[in-house]
Amino acid sequence: MLKRVPARSIHLAMNKAVFLNRDGTLNRLAPQADHIRSPEQVELLRGAAHAVGMLRRAGYLCVIVSNQRGVALGLMTEGELEAVDVRLRELLGGIDASYYCTHSIGEGCDCRKPEPGLLLRAAAELDIDLGDSWMIGDSVTDLDAGVAAGCRTLRVQPVDFSLLDAAHSIIAGNAQPAWTAEPSCTSVLSPVKKIISIVP
Ligand SMILES: [Zn+2]
Repeated sequence: MLKRVPARSIHLAMNKAVFLNRDGTLNRLAPQADHIRSPEQVELLRGAAHAVGMLRRAGYLCVIVSNQRGVALGLMTEGELEAVDVRLRELLGGIDASYYCTHSIGEGCDCRKPEPGLLLRAAAELDIDLGDSWMIGDSVTDLDAGVAAGCRTLRVQPVDFSLLDAAHSIIAGNAQPAWTAEPSCTSVLSPVKKIISIVP
């Protein structure tokens, strides 16, 4: 049973994090609703690397949380997903961890956003204080997952609120969360595809 606020949260050494959706938030969406399935398709959105670097220097773990059901659908392999992740972290100049839901929609897993399982698993493994953390994405399902995990949320918009704007507002302490609600708890965590590489 994983509770939202673990007992150990009373100690002072917990990490704070910014959870980041991937496609449409860090990098351009694949054309025509396709999946990003090779490193050559990874193209960062403007300011994304700058934003991630700023947040990490400000003491936030930057953790990708992304639905990639193309794996379950047989459209790409886990190896291809991992190669894309490697390319993405090269372009970003480092990321602290990536958590992917590779299940399909009908599988009933608890990690496909808007479920909070990816964030809860990262929090448990990386000692993250969810109440001191943010979820940033471009879709409602990202925000719902963030709220369900007990995070504050920010929604990026292609024209008027970029990831860099979001990073600036978090660091300046004047970010206006998209919305907040009571977090929900998830008792069982589904296995996820996890790639962790803490880069100094
Ligand atoms: Zn899942």
